[in-house]
Amino acid sequence: YQPVHVIGGGLAGSEAAWQIAQSGVPVILHEMRKDDATGKVITDAHQTDGLAEMVCSNSFRSDDWQFNAVGLLHAEMRKLGSLIMSCADQHQVPAGGALAVDRDGFSTEVTKRLSQHPLVTIVREEIAGLPPAPDGKNGWDNVIVATGPLTSPALAQAVLDLTGEGQLSFFDAIAPIIHFESINMDIAWRQSRYDKEGPGGDAAAYINCPMNKEQYEAFIDALLAGPKSEFKEWENVPYFDGCLPIEVMAERGRETLRHGPMKPVGLTNPRDPLVKAYAIVQLRQDNALGTLWNMVGFQTKLKHGVQAETFRMIPGLEDAQFARLGGLHRNTFINSPKLLDKSLRMKAQPRLRFAGQVTGVEGYVESAAMGLLTGRFAAADRKGAPIDAPPPTTALGALVEHITGGHLEAGNGPGSFQPMNINYGLLPPLEAPKVDEDGKKIPLKERGRAKKRLMSLRALKDLDAWMA
Ligand code: FAD
Repeated sequence: YQPVHVIGGGLAGSEAAWQIAQSGVPVILHEMRKDDATGKVITDAHQTDGLAEMVCSNSFRSDDWQFNAVGLLHAEMRKLGSLIMSCADQHQVPAGGALAVDRDGFSTEVTKRLSQHPLVTIVREEIAGLPPAPDGKNGWDNVIVATGPLTSPALAQAVLDLTGEGQLSFFDAIAPIIHFESINMDIAWRQSRYDKEGPGGDAAAYINCPMNKEQYEAFIDALLAGPKSEFKEWENVPYFDGCLPIEVMAERGRETLRHGPMKPVGLTNPRDPLVKAYAIVQLRQDNALGTLWNMVGFQTKLKHGVQAETFRMIPGLEDAQFARLGGLHRNTFINSPKLLDKSLRMKAQPRLRFAGQVTGVEGYVESAAMGLLTGRFAAADRKGAPIDAPPPTTALGALVEHITGGHLEAGNGPGSFQPMNINYGLLPPLEAPKVDEDGKKIPLKERGRAKKRLMSLRALKDLDAWMA
């Protein structure tokens, strides 16, 4: 076979290269970080020339496949012979239920296994633009771009030129996302502002949480007092319109939010139609399944620890469970729902596949997971027997669904796509079981947990069927 080219030897690219080589297809892995005479290691976050370097935490998060979606993703990846999971297991350090690793041992192991594989060639170079044109024998007809959140500027510019204005983001501006089932609909209600119909004729597209003056004032106090995370020096970005963190708005004046994302106009509380709310927080559906809802305009730099506490002050969200918290940080990612097909190929140039954080997944494990799938897709194409993605009931399939369209189908339109960790809200829902396998009644408060387990079991069974 002609080789497949993988650009970027991070979490995603290393896994992709491994999967390609393991399927018997040669692979050339291009990684720009090198420990040369200058000692220059060229990103703002990486500190070594090791493959799959973990730039921040040393944790792959929960390893519990029964009750935690990232643990489920671990289990699925292990089934598929993941290099990242295997090296992580080998270099595990004690961390309770989490899978944490000795980061140097882990990265050295990934580098060693790839270097020693007879079908892997590692080239230390930057691909500083679109990959060269294919000539029938150089293999550039089948390329995986896995250059991560800190994609080198030259390549990022080339992707931007190819995809067009607005299709490549350089920052996350993330509002918190909440599991629908944790929203108290006895307090909140559904209505679009001025009952305006949204896509699909829905005049009740939003969930609204009302506040009286006292609640609003207390909320503003909490926003102002809460500890904020500071940008690292290299994250020193100017804010842009429509993207101001809520606490920055609150700092500009106590009323600013009430005239911005929390304005109460055009909405009537059906339970109290005569009393005008002082402020209203709106939630917008975030996935096609309707299981996840984002807080409109609530991007924030509040530290994660206080976010949940602060947002649970909002009436209707007292027991909110967060699928992800808000944030604002540097991150290069493409508008995948518009640009990629279901096998993660760029529609405009199908020789290019994208994998990892640059596709709009978030996290080490999710990035490696997308590397795993693209590696398999690329190798299958090279062998002339293309394969489909795993079903959306699996964690792997649910991530593909998220980055290739789940959002747009929800009617949010382009521009609303934001990176996300794996979570059960991305998988098609199941009824919470009332009895266990032995027919014993499950107490109400344990049913959510039991449901997660059923979803995990379904995922692993469906993955087995896909593999077969
Ligand atoms: P990377 O692992 O970054 O790999 C991309 C590789 O491509 C790099 O090795 C880079 O040198 C190379 N490259 C870039 N451009 C080129 C080019 N033109 N030619 C050749 N090579 C190129 N996730 C977590 O789960 N936990 C965390 O604690 C965490 N902390 C983070 C902290 C920071 C500062 C950042 C930026 C991200 C963090 N993430 C974290 C998010 C994300 O999961 C990781 O960045 C993860 O490494 C992404 O995997 P990846 O393979 O997509 O990218």
